[in-house]
Amino acid sequence: MRLIFLGPPGVGKGTQAASISLRKEINHISSGDLLRAAVDAETDTGLKAKEYIDNGLLVPDELVVKIVVGKINSAECKKGFILDGFPRNLSQAKVLDNTLKKIGEKIDKVFYFTASEETIIKRIAGRRICKSCGVDYHEMFSPPVNNNVCDKCGAELYQRKDDYPETTSMRLQVYREQTEKLIYYYKGKGKLIEINCNGEKTEIEQNILEGLH
Ligand code: AMP
Repeated sequence: MRLIFLGPPGVGKGTQAASISLRKEINHISSGDLLRAAVDAETDTGLKAKEYIDNGLLVPDELVVKIVVGKINSAECKKGFILDGFPRNLSQAKVLDNTLKKIGEKIDKVFYFTASEETIIKRIAGRRICKSCGVDYHEMFSPPVNNNVCDKCGAELYQRKDDYPETTSMRLQVYREQTEKLIYYYKGKGKLIEINCNGEKTEIEQNILEGLH
């Protein structure tokens, strides 16, 4: 099963991709996580990508495509995957089509996640991440038991720099200008399923599972 989770930043794609990938035993490929790992490891790609990420801009295609395509072609993705955050523009979508064509595969479904701008901004502003194991929390909706400390590993939580309010508006603008057109691309291919993300996490997950049948 090969899926794309498409939608604006902060809509909840990552949270849902994490639980659906566990349930369905397929790989969760988050292009944002892969890029952040490259930044932390100070690889060539990471060093070049950092400034774009910190400013809420798209990392150039040649950098992001290399890591995502590498992952898609890896043994761990043979059974399938959920792409979260990729593709983010039309040229990435075409690279993805070609990559899959070469291995005789295709995207099965594209879940398009929607929520009001108010919800999205609240979700981004409250998001906190564990410095050590990467688990996501939210100050209001899913806080840790002890303030700013990860329930799972006890490490400190942090706020992503690109989740600061001044960068959030740039990310939303980039989404509207470059990523939103993918909705029509995948709708035209008859693969798009819309998921309303204004509700509770379990209800959203249920809707995705129904969409998979
Ligand atoms: P995310 O974790 O998906 O919100 O991504 C965080 C940041 O990583 C984005 O704001 C971009 O700077 C960069 N990024 C992630 N995925 C892509 C992509 N497919 N193309 C270009 N930049 C990306």
